[in-house]
Amino acid sequence: MEPSDGSITLIVNPRSGHGGRRTLWEGLWRYLKARGFTIHIRHTRCLGDARQLAAQAAMDQACAMVIVAGGDGTVREAADGLAGSGKPLMLVPTGTENLLASELGIDDRIEGLIAIFQRGLIKTMDLGRVNGRSFASVVGVGFDGQVVHRVGKRRKGHIDYYDYLEPLWHTFWSYRFPPISVRMDGQQVFSGRGLAFVGNTSRYAIGLHLLGRAVIDDGLLDLCIYHCGNRAHLIKHAVMTTLKRHIGHRDVFYGRCKHVVIESVDRPVPCQVDGDQGPDLPLEITIIKAGLKVLVPPGGRPVGVRRSLLRAFR
Ligand SMILES: [Mg+2]
Repeated sequence: MEPSDGSITLIVNPRSGHGGRRTLWEGLWRYLKARGFTIHIRHTRCLGDARQLAAQAAMDQACAMVIVAGGDGTVREAADGLAGSGKPLMLVPTGTENLLASELGIDDRIEGLIAIFQRGLIKTMDLGRVNGRSFASVVGVGFDGQVVHRVGKRRKGHIDYYDYLEPLWHTFWSYRFPPISVRMDGQQVFSGRGLAFVGNTSRYAIGLHLLGRAVIDDGLLDLCIYHCGNRAHLIKHAVMTTLKRHIGHRDVFYGRCKHVVIESVDRPVPCQVDGDQGPDLPLEITIIKAGLKVLVPPGGRPVGVRRSLLRAFR
């Protein structure tokens, strides 16, 4: 991209990131400014801002590209605001997980980000849609939804992996595995105590290969349901998933589809969307084929568990 192609809207979530990551976008901003680009910096102040700012950029004919600096929540909102506009989105990952950036193999160092911009390689990817709002990575129903709800209640600003420890521990001992019912492309595929994950990226938190067969641009959602009624099941599934041996296991349903409906059976079941608290059930999840254009590194590969953890604790 050249400065004559148009301006760049840079959406920054100032609450996201810590240490060097928090100011990662400033390095890119300085680089672009030195090369004569017109950049409009927009800071988010509350939930929903990134969506609105991206939607404004989508409508602005002078704007040629949007850059979003934040975690998965900010990225999800920006993607929702840009969905279907055809304007490319560049990610500056400053969150804890950065699910989409990790899936696309996007670096969290300034040199890597500048290289991605210089190369200008654009990938068209699908977006998920849950109850009318776009998401980029994974919807989780059940145990992880409860963990995310508890993290959200305690949250005061940027969160890191340590902020998940107490909610994980508490949820592990208190979660009652309420039953859910799941329909996939109109057919009932599950009813009972379980955990369901629907999404479009192969990696989940800490790089887990949860929706291991997901392809980001195949027009399909991947659905993984674990039969899970107690803590022993949960530990078994966690181990199997870490070892990448859950797909094909008799207690795991794995499918690919275009439409998923998840309902609670007799009591509320929590859910999360890209790591943030999700809507109440029932959930209706669909896919928008080719909904978003993103800048990617050439040959970018998903980040695995080891690299995810190294990144998180360095
Ligand atoms: Mg897919």
